[in-house]
Amino acid sequence: MEKSKSFARIFEKNFSKRDFKPNLKTTQSLFKILNTLIFKNQLTFIPNFCIKRIHGALGMFEYSPTAVKHCHTITLTNNFLDFREFASILGHEMVHFYQFTVLKMNSGNHNKDFYKFKKRFQKLGLDLQREYR
Ligand SMILES: [Zn+2]
Repeated sequence: MEKSKSFARIFEKNFSKRDFKPNLKTTQSLFKILNTLIFKNQLTFIPNFCIKRIHGALGMFEYSPTAVKHCHTITLTNNFLDFREFASILGHEMVHFYQFTVLKMNSGNHNKDFYKFKKRFQKLGLDLQREYR
């Protein structure tokens, strides 16, 4: 199925759900869809995902150059307000992943390289900003 159609379908199916609790499978398939629609498939591998209760953030990206197995980890909270918030946060952390792996930047700043994706987020009905709540 075309990626834009699968995004529309997954978005529609989950749109009205409150208290969206992501699992690993949904996160990985949405990663692939957003990689195509937002990043033109420039992300060449899937990072490690960690879904858990976190304090003071909805998501974060971590790069550990000395890690034996997974150097790149996206951590997400286990309870989002809705699907749209979940997809926006995953996309936000994917921009940081892009900064590290494609642009080879050693800092994940919210700079112009970060915000250049904003229009593609908006096209999908998602939000790209520094903070969400
Ligand atoms: Zn950020």
